[in-house]
Amino acid sequence: MNLLQKVPNPLSYYNYMKGLTQKLIEADKKYVWHPFTQMSDWFGSEPVIIESGEGFFLIDTEGKRYIDGVSSLWCNVHGHRVKKIDDAICAQLEKIGHSTLLGLGQTKSIQLAERLVQITPSNLQKVFYSDSGATSVEIAIKMVYQFWQNTGQKGRTKFIALENSYHGDTIGAVSVGGISLFHGMFKPLLFETFFVPAPHPYRFDGTAQACADKSLDKIGDLLKRHTGEIAAVIVEPLVQGAVGMIVHPKGFLKGVRELTKEHDVLLIVDEVATGFGRTGKMFACEHEDVQPDIMCLGKGITGGYLPLAATLTTQEVFDAFLGGAAEHKTFYHGHTYTGNALGCAAALASLELFEENKILESLPAKISLIDEVFEELAGLDYVGDVRYRGMMGGIELVRDKATKESFPSEKQIGARLCGAMRPKEVMLRPLGDVIVVMGPIAIDMELLEKMLGIIKDSIEKDLPRIVKSI
Ligand SMILES: *Cc1c(COP(=O)(O)O)cnc(C)c1O
Repeated sequence: MNLLQKVPNPLSYYNYMKGLTQKLIEADKKYVWHPFTQMSDWFGSEPVIIESGEGFFLIDTEGKRYIDGVSSLWCNVHGHRVKKIDDAICAQLEKIGHSTLLGLGQTKSIQLAERLVQITPSNLQKVFYSDSGATSVEIAIKMVYQFWQNTGQKGRTKFIALENSYHGDTIGAVSVGGISLFHGMFKPLLFETFFVPAPHPYRFDGTAQACADKSLDKIGDLLKRHTGEIAAVIVEPLVQGAVGMIVHPKGFLKGVRELTKEHDVLLIVDEVATGFGRTGKMFACEHEDVQPDIMCLGKGITGGYLPLAATLTTQEVFDAFLGGAAEHKTFYHGHTYTGNALGCAAALASLELFEENKILESLPAKISLIDEVFEELAGLDYVGDVRYRGMMGGIELVRDKATKESFPSEKQIGARLCGAMRPKEVMLRPLGDVIVVMGPIAIDMELLEKMLGIIKDSIEKDLPRIVKSI
């Protein structure tokens, strides 16, 4: 509908839209509870209300455009209103929106499963669908647990995970997650997990190699001390995103794979954030030639359009669930929208776009540009560390570069700096004082350059002013 037609005098269009926005904001504050948001702060804020999108831009109710600098929470791949994906969803709607996979097959979920098996590491042969990253992890945990029960190693019930890892917000995923700010409160509800320090070179006194070795040694120790008790090790491969873009030293993932093989323990890689080109290859595992036993996929799987996720596994794990009804080996897990047809149609179109637009081939040039700009950023005041892998980057702001002392978290320096970038038409969401830079991977060079330029300018000009004001 053209809103202009409803306005008697086009000159009042601006005021009309302003009024509309105010009404929406009022209703939002009255009815919506936002995720990961202190709503008391929200009530005192002037939120931006997104109405539409176009390419790599979000557009608010007043027509203001913002570069989608965190890919709508790390899931957008090709931009918004991408014709091929829009068309694929519309075409699917003309057939059917959703039908269940409990007891029935469905065209699109079959085609997508076949594609996923083709593009993931060659040992992964089976696809179990769900609808969010967290559910893909829940499924991985339960699948692994039951795998050992079904194969007679009933003592293998524990998981090893990295401190400060993030695998989603449901109870199982939180049990193997280690972000105490988010999840500390729920500790009594969680199952027991062994945690190992994440390799985080910036906060480690020593070389990157020594940092990786320390974590690997800890994993090795646990595997030895708890022989026959460990079901799996779960990691975010290469980059621990949600805690603030911790980039693991090269070789760490491969080291974890070797240790798990040696001790006959399964490896779950949570590629929810890193999958679909984010780290410069289709999947992060490929950088270190790692074949995991389980791979969790979400976020970018549909190009960022619809909630869909998948947990992939090997023939061996799958076969352990086969048997007669009396053997009780069935995997009793499912969700109403498991394998949703619209989501699968979007995912298939997104994967076709990877080929048509040679997305992966376009990444090295963009990654070099990020490399170049981040190197400059590293020299700026208050920039403690810059880290990135592929198209996934973080800029850690600190009060004191020499001692690496952080700003007091309640001063919300990261959030204020991102706020200062909004009038400059860049939409970012930080993780504490880590400025996350994670534009859609298909973003064009000019726009990427523009966004990086605005971020640099803001760190140089706005940040000192913000720091002075606290
Ligand atoms: C975002 C994320 C999840 C959770 O995905 P949701 O779709 O938000 O449930 C899990 N693991 C990793 C590594 C993530 O980045």
